[in-house]
Amino acid sequence: MSPHRTQRPWLGKVEKLQTPASVTFDPNCYLCPGNRRAGGAQTPQYAETYVFDNDYPAMLPDVAPLQFDQAGLLVGKSERGICRVMCFSPRHDLTVPRMNAREMRGVVDGWVEQYSALGQIPWIRHVQIFENRGEMMGASNPHPHCQIWANDSLPNLPSRELASFESYRAEKHSCLLCDYLQLELQLNERIVCQNEAFAVVVPFWAVWPFESLLLSKRHIASIDQLTGEERDLLTDILRRITIRYDNLFETAFPYSMGFHQKPTDGRDYEEWHLHAHYFPPLLRSAKIQKFMVGYELLSSPQRDLTPEAAANRLRDAGEIHYLDRS
Ligand SMILES: [Zn+2]
Ligand SMILES: [Zn+2]
Ligand SMILES: [Zn+2]
Repeated sequence: MSPHRTQRPWLGKVEKLQTPASVTFDPNCYLCPGNRRAGGAQTPQYAETYVFDNDYPAMLPDVAPLQFDQAGLLVGKSERGICRVMCFSPRHDLTVPRMNAREMRGVVDGWVEQYSALGQIPWIRHVQIFENRGEMMGASNPHPHCQIWANDSLPNLPSRELASFESYRAEKHSCLLCDYLQLELQLNERIVCQNEAFAVVVPFWAVWPFESLLLSKRHIASIDQLTGEERDLLTDILRRITIRYDNLFETAFPYSMGFHQKPTDGRDYEEWHLHAHYFPPLLRSAKIQKFMVGYELLSSPQRDLTPEAAANRLRDAGEIHYLDRS
């Protein structure tokens, strides 16, 4: 932690402002209703959310099994998977923080549906729902959408989380994230916002300046275990944290976000606790990005902003979207 460093003069890269799309329909956008996609398929006239198999999937469901191990040094195996895209709205310009509760609830319901349907496929062991927002995070199209990648083995980060959930439970007979959330709620230094079912915290170990962790208050392992009321409360908290992000630098705040849920191989995973991560790249203005380079690539992450200060800034950012202020 080096909070004194934010004072240093900046001669580095300045990004262009992240401006939200300004048209509700873009004839050149392959995610807008009725338009033709590059692969030839046509996006239908959808009214709410729309899910389709990615025309350029990173993984394929029918790849031939392949495995090799050369001297224990070169180890590899083929990976089967299904990659989908989910448009949040037919409107080209309607991002999460600008959606109303009903529209956002439709997105939450779509996620539950996809997680359940993909998870029920016998060979699918993990379903990753994630959103890249903004060019800075590599989003290839500003039309609000997320991706869903489902595959037959547990990816690296969820594997590490599972190991931590397991070892904490074995040692303390309790849940790692239930205990962590309890502690954060007591300390109330890094909590950004909360409702009856969810809380958002800038985690103690945050690496990105305005990284946050969204936690369910109830110990559940996946979004399909949410009650109807809890889905509304998830809708509520997602809108509130993203409005705060947009307000922070009065920009369409870029981020990668995604849910971590229990693997879908049929086991209960009672140790797993539903949560989502937000990883935003911005550091001190809408144009200045945090780069993970040098010491961070070679040795260890380093922060210029304390997580407490980041939580404070996000708390002060308020929950009326800056574009709605008179
Ligand atoms: Zn569009
Ligand atoms: Zn828990
Ligand atoms: Zn996680």
